[in-house]
Amino acid sequence: MDAGAILLILSVILITGLIIGQPLLHPAAPPSGPARPGRYAEQLASLEALEMDLTQGKISPEDYPAARARLMNQAAAALNAETETQLPLSSDAIEAAVLARRSNRAFCPGCGKPVLADDVFCAKCGRKLH
Ligand SMILES: [Zn+2]
Repeated sequence: MDAGAILLILSVILITGLIIGQPLLHPAAPPSGPARPGRYAEQLASLEALEMDLTQGKISPEDYPAARARLMNQAAAALNAETETQLPLSSDAIEAAVLARRSNRAFCPGCGKPVLADDVFCAKCGRKLH
């Protein structure tokens, strides 16, 4: 094998490596940025889902406090971004919001799955609720 062939192979390897490594050299910005409208509502729903996961045993009681604290911080950040205030939000406000959302819950008479009081159809079995 002559020097030209070796050089060609090396340059092909180098170019391939650069193309493959491109995302590693320039990682895309994380999709955080300014909070979209509705982020807070999503975080509240996530908190509610986390509580459901705990009661259903999908998350261990050891992992629950850390996961809940993380979601609480995200919810506070989302709410602060949406209301465009820089005031630190107390976790009491979020607790109250979660409670308010939970009190808006009813149960499907067909399958027993929790539904929101203003839902028209059950998300699980499709039964008409009103
Ligand atoms: Zn149902």
